[in-house]
Amino acid sequence: MAKLIVGNWKMNGLGPALAEAQAVAAGLAGSLAGSLGGTLGGSGVRVGLCPPATLIERMARSLSGSPVLVGGQDCRAEASGAFTGDVSAEMLSEAGAVLVILGHSERRAGCGETDALVAAKVEAALRAGLEPIICVGETLAEREAGRAVAVVATQVRGSLPQVLAGRAFSVAYEPVWAIGTGLTPTTAQIEEIHAAVRAEMSAVLGVPGARAPILYGGSVKPANAAEILSVAEVGGALVGGASLKSADFLGIIAGAG
Ligand code: PEP
Repeated sequence: MAKLIVGNWKMNGLGPALAEAQAVAAGLAGSLAGSLGGTLGGSGVRVGLCPPATLIERMARSLSGSPVLVGGQDCRAEASGAFTGDVSAEMLSEAGAVLVILGHSERRAGCGETDALVAAKVEAALRAGLEPIICVGETLAEREAGRAVAVVATQVRGSLPQVLAGRAFSVAYEPVWAIGTGLTPTTAQIEEIHAAVRAEMSAVLGVPGARAPILYGGSVKPANAAEILSVAEVGGALVGGASLKSADFLGIIAGAG
């Protein structure tokens, strides 16, 4: 199955940053004839960028015709209504998004998002035809207490609604302590959690749901991408800081090729 490499720009980027997205598209076009030849657009790598909501429409327009998928970073569960400041999955789709990140730890911690709310948002994403990327991950305190597997398994069980079975989606394992810190788990730790996520996905969704890719996220950079992406059950990467610069992001994509 194709690896999925997605950049999360978070609350970064004004109009001029679109040049970085265009550079990613140009780099991918060049690599089709070069070192990544035969993998992009085939079975090798799918690439996505999730800019702030204000840039989605412009990015989708400027990347039209390129293989780069555009995504949102969150959505409201409801399709419309009196929810000041929020954006629905339908609105993201109309703007040109095909992916949406849901349940990122910055939203779970900063906005009080529960597993049940994340599951409702996943249903909204599917309703609007978006491919959700569902984030899970333990805090440092939870890992140090020996609870990493249990915490992540509980999040998977609570955040993945039954309707996901047979639909296009991915789960991103993002240990909270590895996000933006430069710290990464060992490959053995990643393998252990990804195996637990896969087992939980199978329990919740059965065989059709269990085939979706499991991404790793947390301080992925060009220097560690190839090693992380070669770990068993790592089906791609969710990349924060290193997705803001096209050269770094392309370096990570190369690690998946
Ligand atoms: C993230 O926030 O999803 C993330 C993985 O961030 P970073 O790559 O900067 O650690």
